[in-house]
This record gives sequence, structure tokens and C-alpha cells, in this order.
Amino acid sequence: MRALVKVSAGPGMEVREVPIPSCGPSDALIKVHYAGVCGTDLHIWEWDAWAAGRLKPPVTIGHEFAGEIVELGPEAKAEGLLAIGDLVTAEGHIVCGHCLPCRTGDAHVCRRTRIIGVDRDGAFAEYITMPASNVMKLDGIPPEIGAIMDPMGNAVHTVLEGGNVPGSAVLVLGCGPIGCFAVGVARAAGASLVIASDYNPMRLELARKMGAHVTLNPGSDDVVAKCRELTGGEGVDLVCEMSGHPAGHQTAFSAARLGGRVNFLGTPAKTTDVNFARDVIFKGLTLYGVTGRRMYDTWQQMFRLLRAGQLDPRPTVTHRFPLERIADAIQVIKEGQAGKVILEIA
Ligand SMILES: [Zn+2]
Ligand SMILES: [Zn+2]
Repeated sequence: MRALVKVSAGPGMEVREVPIPSCGPSDALIKVHYAGVCGTDLHIWEWDAWAAGRLKPPVTIGHEFAGEIVELGPEAKAEGLLAIGDLVTAEGHIVCGHCLPCRTGDAHVCRRTRIIGVDRDGAFAEYITMPASNVMKLDGIPPEIGAIMDPMGNAVHTVLEGGNVPGSAVLVLGCGPIGCFAVGVARAAGASLVIASDYNPMRLELARKMGAHVTLNPGSDDVVAKCRELTGGEGVDLVCEMSGHPAGHQTAFSAARLGGRVNFLGTPAKTTDVNFARDVIFKGLTLYGVTGRRMYDTWQQMFRLLRAGQLDPRPTVTHRFPLERIADAIQVIKEGQAGKVILEIA
């Protein structure tokens, strides 16, 4: 089969002919139709310090996908939950089930998480095997949307953690694809005011299409002052920090109301200074770090929002490429002129 492989330590990736992965007893073999390209793939392409420290080439890249089940191992078949021909996506974090977080409902921070397309072969390929327990049936959701449920799930996790979105004011800092999805999720969950902030006008336009009531550009707008003005001087109830930028952190703490909440998804490249006394403790803020998707609460919430038609991620998708044009896909992401980019594989 064709697969996009990080062949050796260093920049780039290659389309290679590799064997179809074998399907273990409790696995599903999935023919991949669509896959999402993500910032993580950009780090892997460029071979930054994180990628160099984590990946062991050769490895097939890609962790966001949807496709069709073509084979089930005997144990997976015996479970009776999946069938050949099912259109599916999958949770790309494969967890151990045995560690303390796994056993206490926090499998998204499993100590032994292995991520497809990072720690084991991924989805930028004609076929992928997944443990059947990670596979999610699409049940009518189009596979193009199924292919981006991994990052959309990050957004669902970020927005809904805390449980107080209905009627609230939400600020989304950073409008990359996950930030744009977060805008849509906040609207779907009944936020009464969704403010989106980014330096990139193209991304702000996508956020507006996803339902942002107000878009702000920190290059020309005072985001904190504007948030206070729009909330009767109080500040927002929830900040979704998707930028990972030190300035974003300061804005998040200042824009949140007393007793508010900041959920962090954007990952900073280095440590930042925080005035904990002023900005966190005396404000009574709740801070939450978002890793992956809650297994499987996030998935259930996302499926319901999508099936009910409350959440439509499609305005965020701006580009589609065949597998062979990965260099072009990476380029449009790098230039900051793309929302979500999808690879059409089969
Ligand atoms: Zn991703
Ligand atoms: Zn675990």
C-alpha cells in the first residue's frame, strides 16, 4: 500500500510502498478514506526538538482519519460491536487501561499513551489497524467530518470541561482549526456570547463563519478591555486558550471574570511568567489543562452535537489534497493561510 513515511531522522516525509498492516486478534483493519493534517504533522515534517525526541523512524505519519472497516480480528468480531463495511473514525491515543489515570476515569492522560502517527504507524496510508476498542462508528456522519473528529474532540473537551457554557460568555484565544471548532462548540452548547481573537484576519473570518459573535485582532484591538466592555465590566466566564503564546496567557488571566475559568489547549514552546497571586489565586480562577479527548465522554458529546446538526465544522475546512501532495498541504499550513486541511486518500 501507499503510505506517507518519516523515513529517517530529519525534515520531510516520503510516499512509500509498504506492507498492509496485519490485523491482530482484537484489532480492526481500516481502509482510510480521508485524513486530517495537523500542526503536529508540521512539527514532524520539520523535525523540531519535540519530534526528534519522540519519533523513532521509520514511522507512518497521521493521526486524524476516517475510513471503512475491511477486516476484524476474531476477538473484535466476537464482541459484535463492529462489522465489515462500517464507516468509522478512531480515538488515536492508545492507552494502557491499567495505570492510575486509566483506572480512575482519566485515560486521556494515561502514563503509557501511544499516539498513532507518532509512536506507532499512523493514518496517512491506504490502511491502518486500530484496537477495536478505539474505533468509533460514524453512523451517518460523513467521513470527511469523521476525519477531523480528533481535533474537533480537542475543542469539545476544551469548551465543555467545567460544564457551565449555557448562557455564558466565552473567549477563544487563537483561531487555528481547533480554535475555530471551539467557537462552533461554544455556540452549539448555548454560550450567549462567543468572542474569538487572532492576529490572522483569514482565521478570524473562519471563526466568524463558525459563529463567533465578535472577532478581535490583538494587533489593533485591546482584547481584555473589549471583553470587559461586552460583559458589563465583569470579564468572560470561560477562556479557551488555544494559542499557546505567552501573551495569550496574560490575556486569558486578565479577560476571565472573578471566579471564572481558563481551559488551556495551546502548548507553549517555553515556560512563561505568571503572577499567580494577582491573576489566579485572588481572582479565584479555575485552570484546566486539556490533553486529547476524554474517553469517551468527549466523543459522545461530539457525536450528539454533530448528529443533531448543532455543530457543523465544515466552514473550517479550507483545503483538500491527495496523499502525494503532502508538501503542498504542509506549505499552506505553514503560511497561515489555511483552516483545516484534509488529505483525500481513497
Ligand atoms: Zn491533530
Ligand atoms: Zn494508562
